[in-house]
Amino acid sequence: MSDLASKVSSTLRDVPDFPKEGIIFKDITPVLADGMLFREIIEAWRQRYASQNISAIVGIESRGFIFGAALAHALGVGLTLVRKPGKLPYSRIGVDYTLEYGTDRVEMHTDALAPGERVVVVDDLLATGGTCGATVALVQQLGGVVVECAFLVELGFLEGAKRLHGVPHHALTVF
Ligand code: AMP
Repeated sequence: MSDLASKVSSTLRDVPDFPKEGIIFKDITPVLADGMLFREIIEAWRQRYASQNISAIVGIESRGFIFGAALAHALGVGLTLVRKPGKLPYSRIGVDYTLEYGTDRVEMHTDALAPGERVVVVDDLLATGGTCGATVALVQQLGGVVVECAFLVELGFLEGAKRLHGVPHHALTVF
């Protein structure tokens, strides 16, 4: 495990039975509270994507907004929001999906990306892959190209990567 990966995994907090029994919630708030670690994560991702001709970061509500916004700022590219239903004000498209605890839907503005735009999708955690898979589908509906999906944490045993429509993914730590 890399130095950064072990720092992330030892800083994350496991909260058992949240938001319901049987789920071990990976709480990223201690990572955000560690300013040097937060900076190291964004710097590692900036280096990873700096030469990839990325024109936008796609952040998934809500923790993906935090890491996505920081990465967009570091790369000097735009941030595009993928939100839960009823939050986006303008004309939008949506995709329904199932997740580890329930069902949900994600939406994007119809003018959020131009065809051919190369993007990185960012979220805090990959679990069943439902949320990110639906996000990849949204980006592709708008003609965007997902270069990679980036996560702090991947719960590998849930095999969420299989739901990402064949696009590459990268996680700093895998459990
Ligand atoms: P999934 O669609 O199953 O891949 O779930 C991913 C989304 O749900 C991410 O936005 C995560 O923030 C959240 N999530 C799912 N499972 C967990 C977990 N065990 N700990 C923390 N967040 C989770």
